[in-house]
Amino acid sequence: MVKYTEKEFKTILIVRKYIDSWFWDRYGVNPYQGCQFGCIYCDSRSARYRLPADFENDIIVKKDAAGMLDGRLSRARTLLPDVVAMSGASDPYHHAEARFESTRHCLEVLQKHVYPVHILTKSRLVLRDLDLLEEIGRNNWCCVSVTITACDPEVARFLEPKSPSPQGRFDVVRTIKENTGHVQSGVLLMPVIPCLSDSAGDLEAMVRGAKEAGADYVLFGGAMTMRDQQALWFLRHLKESHPEFLDKYEHLYGFTYDEESYEGDYMAKDSYNTVISHTFLDLCAAYDMPYRIRRFIPADYRAENYRIAEMLLNRAYDLMVTGKAWTRPHWAGMNIQNLKEPIVDVADRGELRAIRNVGPALEDFILKELGS
Ligand code: SF4
Repeated sequence: MVKYTEKEFKTILIVRKYIDSWFWDRYGVNPYQGCQFGCIYCDSRSARYRLPADFENDIIVKKDAAGMLDGRLSRARTLLPDVVAMSGASDPYHHAEARFESTRHCLEVLQKHVYPVHILTKSRLVLRDLDLLEEIGRNNWCCVSVTITACDPEVARFLEPKSPSPQGRFDVVRTIKENTGHVQSGVLLMPVIPCLSDSAGDLEAMVRGAKEAGADYVLFGGAMTMRDQQALWFLRHLKESHPEFLDKYEHLYGFTYDEESYEGDYMAKDSYNTVISHTFLDLCAAYDMPYRIRRFIPADYRAENYRIAEMLLNRAYDLMVTGKAWTRPHWAGMNIQNLKEPIVDVADRGELRAIRNVGPALEDFILKELGS
């Protein structure tokens, strides 16, 4: 039985120190705590989120989330409009949204203040708000990413027992692409679940499904992460339903199964993630499928900064997934998109090298891009 509790919160807008280099969000809004989709691998079950133990049935609804957001953005003298991700720690369109409409009301506020939006969801309910999302996209920038972790309906039911079917989610992307002109939409192929959805055939079905749905992009990461009680929850389910895979997990994450505590690694072995990345790269090439999202470019002094940062961050991503040194272009890009002035002014003063992580090679690259 699901219990909803309305609760007051002091803050609603998360402001990140650095823009996310995959999803391009500077801000985050979570109208809910807890998520009724109940995915057994969900990272929000880990201790750091401090959510109720019954994460999928004990749902906290943030009281007057939209009003608080409106107040925060109205007083926001130091904030510049930038991408707001909805959500991080729960699906913005899980079942509670049909009743409380907090996500929709927050979107109306973001539309009013002309903030771009990135929706991350598994739900068909997002289609209810297509009019609003199209409007945000037309006036600004809007992106809807739909997550698929397995195409086999039975595997998906095991992993994500209360979420829509994989085909239903591909249909969400198709509907968005067929009915909007200004909304980017694609498929998040993450996390990959070892042994359950990681065969070459599984990964190909995901990329092919995205292509057939008309997705603008896919995004792929690596294997699921594991920590504290989230790992225990997942491993308990795995042991009950697929005990034959436990050995492989022990090897990949470096632990010995104990139902009371998890002492393994947070990430799967690099060698595993490298194979997954190479497979996805080959599939994206074969299906002519972009694997990066076109970012929001503001119409102010940040435009050129963001454009150059996007090139550096895309390059860093390519280096990372092919196992090469990637941190320098990555952090150069992250720092450039945090500049408080146009990068052209920095270049004109001959001070590009003062930006952290910009060395001689990146300086040359930036100058060439600026036409200097
Ligand atoms: S939909 Fe996302 S937030 Fe909700 S349970 Fe699944 S992984 Fe967690």
